[in-house]
Amino acid sequence: MPIERSPTPPAAERPRALPRCLLPELVIRCPPVLLALDYDGTLSPIVNDPARAVPAPGARQALARLARHTQAVVLAVISGRDIDQLRSLLGLDFGVTMLGVHGAEVMETDGTRLLVEELGGAPHALDKVRDWLRANVPERAGLVIEDKRLSVALHYRNAAQKTAAPVIRAFETFVTAQAPELRLGRGKMVVEAMPKGADKGRAMRFLRARLRSDAPAVYFGDDVTDEDAFYALRHDGITVRVGDCAPSWAEYRVPSPLQVVEALDSMAEALERNAPAD
Ligand SMILES: [Mg+2]
Repeated sequence: MPIERSPTPPAAERPRALPRCLLPELVIRCPPVLLALDYDGTLSPIVNDPARAVPAPGARQALARLARHTQAVVLAVISGRDIDQLRSLLGLDFGVTMLGVHGAEVMETDGTRLLVEELGGAPHALDKVRDWLRANVPERAGLVIEDKRLSVALHYRNAAQKTAAPVIRAFETFVTAQAPELRLGRGKMVVEAMPKGADKGRAMRFLRARLRSDAPAVYFGDDVTDEDAFYALRHDGITVRVGDCAPSWAEYRVPSPLQVVEALDSMAEALERNAPAD
């Protein structure tokens, strides 16, 4: 599958408010709908300690309601987290395909695991990155190394800017120069080294390829890494950015994870009115 990374969205590309009826009507009129969502900042509010990022109130219940309608909705969560973390935070073990590390790893609804792509030299390059981080990230400075096996992330949400900035710069320089098998991903207060093929646009194309070619696709996300998925769906998907009104390839926006839950509930209600669960 070719890699098609999203360019920076033009400043004029601002998503507009998500119309209330759009998604409920879609699941009734055009099943099956591929409905994919990011986790942090989308299904779960951003918190200072990523280990405590629990789903927004009602999110788990809304997903469980939708997961009962397997003929109408194909549910997926695509996160930068690894699958084990994602499963334990989401607390939902059925009916949702989970894609971890930006889509590099997949867990099917029956628990089967697979890798989306061949990793090539990425594992060896990740070892070099681990060694560099161990040697160069100061302790007790608020910088947190997160090893996700298929990627390594450096979080700086809780670090002073003057401490974090030179370390982040040096980290980016090292990965670019010494680990060409990897790419850098930048999110909210995190920079991450990951296999070149791990991106959410590719993850969406992987999921779409398993459905009828005209099946609609919907994606919710809040961050820079979600732009790859918005971009992949820019001609024929429904894309929703969660949070601020920044330039984005997404067509629509909602203000926070609470409105994501409302949108999920509105789809579940429409399906429940229309037909019993499978
Ligand atoms: Mg996110």
